[in-house]
This record gives sequence, C-alpha cells and structure tokens, in this order.
Amino acid sequence: MIKEYNELKKVIKNSKTILITGHVDPDGDAVGSTLAMYNYIITLNKEVDIILLKLPNTFSYLHNFDKIKTDESSLKKEYDLLIVLDCGDNTRINIDASNYSFRHIAVIDHHKTHEYFSDLTILDPKSPSACEIVYDILKSFKYNIDLQIAECLYTGILTDTGSFKNSNVIPASFLVAYELIKIGVNPNRISRLSMDMISLNKLELIKYTYANMEIINNNITYIYISKHILDKYADEENIYEGLVNYGKNIKGIEVSIFIRQLDEDSYKVSMRSTDKVDVAIISKKYNGGGHTAAAGFEYNGKLEDIKNNLVNDVESQL
Ligand code: 5GP
Ligand code: MN
Repeated sequence: MIKEYNELKKVIKNSKTILITGHVDPDGDAVGSTLAMYNYIITLNKEVDIILLKLPNTFSYLHNFDKIKTDESSLKKEYDLLIVLDCGDNTRINIDASNYSFRHIAVIDHHKTHEYFSDLTILDPKSPSACEIVYDILKSFKYNIDLQIAECLYTGILTDTGSFKNSNVIPASFLVAYELIKIGVNPNRISRLSMDMISLNKLELIKYTYANMEIINNNITYIYISKHILDKYADEENIYEGLVNYGKNIKGIEVSIFIRQLDEDSYKVSMRSTDKVDVAIISKKYNGGGHTAAAGFEYNGKLEDIKNNLVNDVESQL
C-alpha cells in the first residue's frame, strides 16, 4: 500500500485545485473520511472544494462541516484532482463526475465489491471503514493528526462498525480508536451525536419499523416502508439510516431486509446479515454491492417479486 500512498501524496502535491467527494447518500464514514481529507488538504495551501449532495445534518459537529457544498452551483468545471472516498464504483459517486474535467482521480475505498474506476485506487476491503484507511494514509504522510481530524475519523469508524459491534471490526479498529481517543476524542460525545441521539420523527419511524416488521421462515426479518410514510417523517436527509439494524438482533434471525420505496415500482434495498449469509453476493446479483454483512441495491420492478426473490436468495445460502 505504501506505493499507492506515495503516489497519492505526489498527486496531491502536484495539484493546485482539488475536489473531494464520497458516495451517494453519504453516511458517517463518507462524511468523516471526506472531511478528514479536506481538513488535511486545507493545511497545504490548495484550492480545495468538498461536495456531498443530500448531506445529513447529523454530522454537523465535525470541523468544517459548514464548508461542505450541498449543491454544484459554485463548483469549478475543471480540477487538477478529484478524490473520491468510501465509494465502490463510478455509478455511486456523489456527483456526476462526467460533467467535470479532472486531470487525475484518486479513490480511497473499502468495499468488497469495488469496481475500479481510477488508476490511483487505494482499496482495502478488510478495512471496516474508509476512515481507517485515511488514518493510515495520514500516518504514512507523517501528518500530525489533530483533534478536529481525529473526530472526523472516529465518526466514520464508529458508524461503519456499528459502534464496534459489527462483524467487520478488526483489532486495528480498536487500535486506531485508541490513538484517536488519546488525541482527545470523547467517545461518549461522538457516540451520542453520531448514532444514539434521535429526533422525534426518527422515533416514530422506529416505532413504525417494529410495528410492521415481518418474520419470514424464522430466519429473516422483512421491513418495508412506503414513500408516503417516509415523506411524512423525513425531516432530514437519510432519516431511514440504520432502520435495517432493528431487524438484525432477534434470536434466530440471519438476515434483515429493509426496503424503502423511492417511487412507483422503484425501491432501495438494504440488507444486514450475521455470519452465515453473504449479502454482498446477493446485492451484486441485482447490480448493487457492499460488504459481506451489509449491502444494498436499487430495484425497479414489483415489490412482491423482489421480496420473494430475496427470501429465496437468502435461504439458498443457509
Ligand atoms: P446501506 O444498506 O447502509 O445503504 O448500505 C450498506 C452497504 O452497501 C454500504 O457499504 C453501501 O455502500 C453498500 N450499498 C448500498 N446500496 C448500494 C448500491 O446500490 N450499490 C452498491 N454498489 N453498493 C451499495
Ligand atoms: Mn464506508
């Protein structure tokens, strides 16, 4: 990886204008890793922009959150370098990159289903979060990580490991967390702000989720939320984030399936699994992707069809 880290360092050094972005529907890891990179690069006297469309307000406690552009109107048309973080393929980049011109594109990612879209790709599918890779990169640059960047990185690690509880967590996650806490990160504060505290609307959605949860074959939980219900409660971007997890921790359940309606006959599927089922393989079949225990895809068609197909896909792995 050292070779790629050095290449990244060189391309950053040789670029005057830099744009940073992450994946669509940015989560804690996308926001944390892009902001950490932004907060590092602004110390280098570059012209740097950061953009994340549909940015959730949850992470507004992070340093320079207010610098994140949420519409494309003030972006330049050309940049020397685009840095894409936490993004597994070019269809999932937060902006339509084909509308811009970049001399170089650098990608930092940890998705198992990664499909290369740049010559300079730093990919570690074993890393539970993109933020852990960014930590490694900054260390290799001998950069002195301050509390502001440490909070960004800790946020991504915490959210992508589900508070260090998911099966993706590795010993290094704790080691990096330890280093970040030594820098001054307050784990209780970040936990509350990024994951634990919910709005009253989210509470209503959680109640709805539990009330409408279906148990299939005693090993799958199925949750469906229509666009109508989501619109009723959506007081911020990504209000549905994490609802899939409520189906996961029930005795005997191997897979939680969460489907939200985007439009008529158009759906977004999220899946979580314990250690028996690889949901990345299933999602890949439907042109999506992700990780072994957390994956998703978009589906256009009939809800009953995708529900039945997914139940068959899961059962065939058990
Ligand atoms: P979530 O269920 O939280 O939306 O996503 C879980 C994981 O699956 C994330 O790592 C996310 O990037 C990946 N993922 C979700 N939806 C898609 C999709 O439509 N395509 C791909 N390639 N990955 C997805
Ligand atoms: Mn991630």
